[in-house]
Amino acid sequence: MNLFKDQIMISDRIAGQKKRNPIKKSDSKLFVCPKCMNVWEVIRKTNGTSRLVSYTHIPRYGKSKEVCRKCK
Ligand SMILES: [Zn+2]
Repeated sequence: MNLFKDQIMISDRIAGQKKRNPIKKSDSKLFVCPKCMNVWEVIRKTNGTSRLVSYTHIPRYGKSKEVCRKCK
């Protein structure tokens, strides 16, 4: 059943392409501050330093609530 085998290979290739869609990795690190209502995240740099970045334009839906550093 060479034809059947080929079809599986093609569908595997299509599935592989779908998996390659860009995933927003940073999304999981995003929090919503319940005090200032900004979406924020801590960006860690390779040299060990980290800084707080807040976004006012990102939808807050689905983000976990965490008081940001500015409001603590
Ligand atoms: Zn805040």
